Amino acid sequence: MAGLLDIGPRALYLPGHVNVGLVRTPDEGAILIDTGQDKDYGRAIRKACKAAGLTPRAIVNTHSHADHYGGNDYLVRQFAVPVYAPPFEAAIIQNPFLEPMYLFAGAKPLPALTGKWLMGKPSPVDVLLEGETVEIADVTLRLHPTPGHSPRHLAIGVDDVLYCADALFGPATLEKYGAPFTHDVGQQIASIAAVRKTDYRVYLPAHGDPVEDVNTLADANLAAITQTLEAVHQALDPPASTSSVVHRVVGILDCPPAGLPQYFLFQSLVLAYLSYLTERGKATAHIVNGELLWQQPS
Ligand SMILES: [Zn+2]
Repeated sequence: MAGLLDIGPRALYLPGHVNVGLVRTPDEGAILIDTGQDKDYGRAIRKACKAAGLTPRAIVNTHSHADHYGGNDYLVRQFAVPVYAPPFEAAIIQNPFLEPMYLFAGAKPLPALTGKWLMGKPSPVDVLLEGETVEIADVTLRLHPTPGHSPRHLAIGVDDVLYCADALFGPATLEKYGAPFTHDVGQQIASIAAVRKTDYRVYLPAHGDPVEDVNTLADANLAAITQTLEAVHQALDPPASTSSVVHRVVGILDCPPAGLPQYFLFQSLVLAYLSYLTERGKATAHIVNGELLWQQPS
């Protein structure tokens, strides 16, 4: 992992598979925006901070996916820093078993779903992030509710930089995964529109490079959502079970899941699209002889 890069007067980030944000505080400290996947990430953050003469003062988690809070446990032990997180997301950060559990329809998940990819080490959450701003170590962070990718996702603004986290994905990530993960497609679209209306100089997605042109980034994300929406809609004709819809969408988007964790994430994504299409009268679910079938309404 490379060292810290400057993107604003007080804003830096540690580039990686997941970008970790850092905001300088007046006392040679740093507020961490997310902590990466695991202990190794935590160590890399500690090393990068040390090299830059910064001491971690707090952790701000944008949402509860394991690749964003997995380094919390290590960093909390090393620096005894307080953890800030959005409500609801905090429940999962404190109880990471909830993620594989919800991906497995609430049942005890398969062991393959309980690795660090979907389940980080549990972390305390000391402060819930509510309201428009939060003051930490003499720095004011602006909180931008950007639900959709996860239920209470937050993007974090400081000075002229917006840490988008997973409200927007970089083009290479969209290309790689075919469809951006979503919990609520309607909210995700609205959140992209909300970010587009902001006036920051630099936008940093958690997966991708910092950009100045938010419109191009927003357009790429909307295009990926539209493409996925069309694929899921197309997959309902002829009527099909959930697993058949998933199979068809994988074929249309040419994004075969690499293993069980990826399969269950993708199935959850497809269900989010089915929910969105159902709300708009473009999909219906019926039980036929004990089998759930999705179809386009006639
Ligand atoms: Zn995420």
